[in-house]
Amino acid sequence: MKAVGLTLVFVLAAVVTAGMLLAAAGWRPVRGLAEPAGEAPMYSKSAYSLKRLSQGRIDELARLLTPEERDIILGKGTEARFCGDLVDNHKDGVYVCRLCGLPLFASDAKFESKSGWPSFFQPFDPDHIRYERDETHGMVRTEIMCERCGGHLGHVFEDGPAPTGLRYCLNSASLTFHEAGEELPAESRPASTATAYFAGGCFWGVEDRFQQVPGVVDAVSGYMGGRTSDPTYKEVCYEDTGHAETVRVTFVPEAVSYRELLEWFFRFHNPTTLNRQGPDVGTQYRSAIFAADAEQADEARAYIDELRASDRYRGKSIVTQVEVGGEFFEAEEYHQDYHLKHGGSCPLPED
Ligand SMILES: [Zn+2]
Repeated sequence: MKAVGLTLVFVLAAVVTAGMLLAAAGWRPVRGLAEPAGEAPMYSKSAYSLKRLSQGRIDELARLLTPEERDIILGKGTEARFCGDLVDNHKDGVYVCRLCGLPLFASDAKFESKSGWPSFFQPFDPDHIRYERDETHGMVRTEIMCERCGGHLGHVFEDGPAPTGLRYCLNSASLTFHEAGEELPAESRPASTATAYFAGGCFWGVEDRFQQVPGVVDAVSGYMGGRTSDPTYKEVCYEDTGHAETVRVTFVPEAVSYRELLEWFFRFHNPTTLNRQGPDVGTQYRSAIFAADAEQADEARAYIDELRASDRYRGKSIVTQVEVGGEFFEAEEYHQDYHLKHGGSCPLPED
């Protein structure tokens, strides 16, 4: 049951266009768009912490709001048309949650809707917005809230401009604007991230698994370790490029260490079959770690030595190669989030 919930969260998290998300909001039960705390991804793809705030913290922050802001943000109110101070704001910058500081919209998606409320055609990051069915006032609308604090923002409608066709209709009172170049407060800045590269057979599955590891911000399929630039899937499959199907993992070291990623990697694939994973045979399916620096390489080699000294692989030798550096080339778009697009996502192994 937990796995089903987790998969649902990741399906939602990876929906690429907000249009699809809104379509989902139309038919998906409200609960499906309001997963209980603890199951949402820890970080958005833009590396912001999505850890839901406790009620205590929300109460604390709410004390800093004006009564009108409290009515709107916590009481789901609506400010009068043309009365908000951000309706006519045309400066470059970012609009963050008034309550918790999470970036919600950027000036490049703001447009003149003439509705009297600040309007945007897409969010800063799809993961930063929570959607809920709202049947109040005799209408069925889709309410939008801040993912991190649950603060009310406004509603989203399907009469917006291209490319999404959506109109995110906001209350100015729910937002704080920071002009480009201004230093952002800590709560509005992304977490520091690091990068790791793993090749363990077909990248679809490796990417899907890493994407689910708590503390991983993003996993992208690509090619690495070969002799050619910008290889295509066809070249990697049928020509002697030397590239391996590789997954680039962007992670928050504060939340998940490189060592923990190594542990996951060896649970995700079989490191004892040379140039092969299950039915996939060829050097592009070899087991390899492309260390981002000498420190990662040392850690990877030390971990492999530990595994060799254990009886985990029952005498079979580990063939995983460890290399330092090299250029990573992103794979074609149709290879990204393959399992999410086509089904077949597997939960993380439990042992
Ligand atoms: Zn918030």
